[in-house]
Amino acid sequence: MITAERLVFAVLVLISLAIFLRRAYVLLAMVSLGRWENRFDHLWQRFKGMVTYGFLQKRVVRKAFGVNHLLLFWGFLVLALVNMEFVISGIFPKFSLEFIGHIPFSILTFLADVMSGVVFIAVIVALTRRTFFRPPYIEATKEAYIILFTVGVLMAAYFGMNMAAGARGVKALSYMPISLALSSMVPVGVGQGTLFALQKAFWWAHALVFLFFLDFIPYSKHLHILTSLPNCFFRNLSFVSSLPKMVFQANSTFGVSKFTHFTWKDLLDFLACTECGRCQSVCPASAAGKALNPKEVVHSGKRNLLENGLDLLEFRPLDTLGRTADNAEVDVPLIGEGRASVSAEAVWDCTTCGACMDICPVFIEHTPKLVEMRRHLVMEKVDFPSELTSFFENIEQRSNPWALAPSDRAKWSQQLGIPHFSKAEGHEYLLYAGCLGSYDSRAKKVATSVAEVLRAAGISFGVLGADEKCCGDSLRRLGNEYIFDRTAKENVSLFRRLGVEKVVTICPHCYNTLKNDYREYGADYQVFHHVEIMEEVLNKGFFKPNNQFRDEHIVIHDSCYLARYNDIIDQPRTLIRGVIGTSPIEMENKHRDGFCCGAGGGRMWLEEDAETRVNRERIKQALKQKPTIIATCCPFCVTMFEDGLKERDAAEVVKVMDVGEIIHEGMVLPGVKGKDAGQSNEKRAINA
Ligand code: SF4
Ligand code: SF4
Repeated sequence: MITAERLVFAVLVLISLAIFLRRAYVLLAMVSLGRWENRFDHLWQRFKGMVTYGFLQKRVVRKAFGVNHLLLFWGFLVLALVNMEFVISGIFPKFSLEFIGHIPFSILTFLADVMSGVVFIAVIVALTRRTFFRPPYIEATKEAYIILFTVGVLMAAYFGMNMAAGARGVKALSYMPISLALSSMVPVGVGQGTLFALQKAFWWAHALVFLFFLDFIPYSKHLHILTSLPNCFFRNLSFVSSLPKMVFQANSTFGVSKFTHFTWKDLLDFLACTECGRCQSVCPASAAGKALNPKEVVHSGKRNLLENGLDLLEFRPLDTLGRTADNAEVDVPLIGEGRASVSAEAVWDCTTCGACMDICPVFIEHTPKLVEMRRHLVMEKVDFPSELTSFFENIEQRSNPWALAPSDRAKWSQQLGIPHFSKAEGHEYLLYAGCLGSYDSRAKKVATSVAEVLRAAGISFGVLGADEKCCGDSLRRLGNEYIFDRTAKENVSLFRRLGVEKVVTICPHCYNTLKNDYREYGADYQVFHHVEIMEEVLNKGFFKPNNQFRDEHIVIHDSCYLARYNDIIDQPRTLIRGVIGTSPIEMENKHRDGFCCGAGGGRMWLEEDAETRVNRERIKQALKQKPTIIATCCPFCVTMFEDGLKERDAAEVVKVMDVGEIIHEGMVLPGVKGKDAGQSNEKRAINA
C-alpha cells in the first residue's frame, strides 16, 4: 500500500516532470521555427567533438577557473544517476540501483559521495568568486545566485540525510567516505526519534530542492545543461571562415530581420549560451568601448526568440514542430533598441575577427548572425553608414574601393616588368595583389617586395594586371552579398579561363576569400599567402640574412584572417627568425588568440569614432614590448598600425613592416637591384 507521504511525493514528481517536459518541448518547438540547415553530416566526427568539448570541456578548461566548471559538470553527471534512484525509490522504496552489480554499485555510491563533496566545494568557490573576485565580463545576476544556492542546499541535504540515516544504523556508509565521516560526528546522546526527524527533514529538503531545480533549469540560464551538448554536436566542424552563400530569387528575403529568418542552429545557439562572458572578454569592439558586446548579441537573440516564439506557437497546434512561414509577423524587432533586440550600431561594430567564436565553450557562431543582419540592412533596407555608399558604388562600377581606373591596377607590376599570367608561358603562380596591393601607395611597396622575393627565388609567376578585380571580402563582410556574388562568379570564371592552379596573395583577406569564400563558387585552385611560399624558399636555404635587422626589436602581430581563420601562425615567425636569428617578440594576445587591428569585417572603410578605435588597444599592447618594428602580414593591419602610431606620435621611432618587406630588406636577394631599406617606413596614403 502506498503511504500518504509517498503519494504526495509521487504527485509532486509528476507535476514537476510535466512542467519540465512541457517547457523542453516548447523550446524545441521554438528552435524548429528556424530555417532548415543540414548539420546531420559526419555524425562520428560530431560525436567525437561532443565528447571532447561537451563532456571533457576542452574549451572550458582553457581558462584556469574552467576546472571548477568541469568538476561541477561531472558532479552533475554522476549525481543525475543517483538522483534518479532517489526519486524512484521515494515512490517505490524497494527500488535500488544495486541490480547493476555489487562492485559497480559500490563504485557509483563512492563516486556520488565524493562528487557531492566536490560539487559543494565548487559551489562555494563559484559563490566566492562571483561575490568578491568577479571578472568584469561576468554578471552577478540574481539567477546565478539562486542556482548556486540551490545546488549548495541540494548537496548539504544529501549529506544531512546520509548522516542521520548512518547514525540511526539504517544505511551502510562503508563506500561513502564523506557521509561516514559526518555520521561519526553525530554525538552519541542524540536519540533515534531526533535522528529520524532529521533524516526526514533532510530527505524532504533534498526532494523539494531537486524538483524545484528540475523545473528551474529550462527557465533559467542553466538551460545550457540541456542545450550545450547538442550545440557541441551540431557545431561547425571547422572554424567559421566563410559565410552562407545566398540564392537570389524573386521574392526571397535578404538577410535576417527577425528571429524566424535564422536557421534552427542559430536559434539553438541562443539557447545554449552559458553566459560565461568569454566572448565579451576577447571582443576588440567591446574592449574599445563600442556598442557591440557579443554576449549581449546572443542574449538579445535569446530574449527575442523567447518573446516572439511564444506568440507564434500560440497560434499553432501544440503537437506541431517545424518551420513557420517566412513572412510570419513578430512583435519584437530583432534589429533595434531594447533588451530583446540588437542595435544597428552594434551590428556595424563587428570586425568579424572571430575571437568570440574561437573562445566560446559551446561553439556559438556570432559573426554569421551579425553579417546576416548587415545583409538585411544593406540589401533590404538600404540603411547603412553613409560612407559605404561610395564604397559600394565604386566596387560595383570599377571593382576597387576608390573608383580608380582599372588600367591603373597594372601600373605597379608593369614598372617591375611582371608579365600577365599565362599558363602557356609556364607560370606556376598567379600573384594576386588585391585592391590595396595594386592602388595603395603603402601596400604597393609590400606587393613589390613580395614580387621581388618571388623573382629572386626563381619562382615563375604572373599577375592579372588590369584584368584583376576586387576579391569582395569587405563587400561580403559588410553585407553586400549581391555584389559579392557577382564578383565571386566573375573571378572564379576568369581564373578558370586562364587555367590558374596556384594563387599567392599578399593579403589575408584576399587569401581567405579566394580560398574559403569561393569554394562554394567552384574554386578549384590552391591558395597561398606569401609567407607560406617564402617559408618554403627559406627552408631550401636560398637566402642568407644581410644583418641589416640585427639590432631591431621586432614585435609580431597576428592577422585574424591568417592565424585564427586559417592557422597560419608559424610561418611569419620562422621568416623573422631567418632574418634576425631569434624569434620575434610576442604580444600579450598572440597566435589564434591575437587581438584584431580593427580593419576587418569591412571596418577599414568605415569612419571610426575617435573615442573607440580598436587599433588603439592593439597599439598599446605592441608598444608595451618596446619594439623598433611591428611586423605583420596584412596590408589592413599595416594601415591600422601606422595610423595608430601617428596618433601616439610614435611613427618616427617604430616602423610597421610586412614580413615580406622584412625578408626583402633583410636578406641578400640575388638579382634584385635598388633595394631601399628606408622605403617601407614612408607615410601611408591612399593616393587613389
Ligand atoms: S567577431 Fe570579433 S568584433 Fe565581432 S563580435 Fe566577435 S569578437 Fe567582437
Ligand atoms: S556566447 Fe559563448 S562565450 Fe559568449 S557568453 Fe555565451 S557561452 Fe560564453
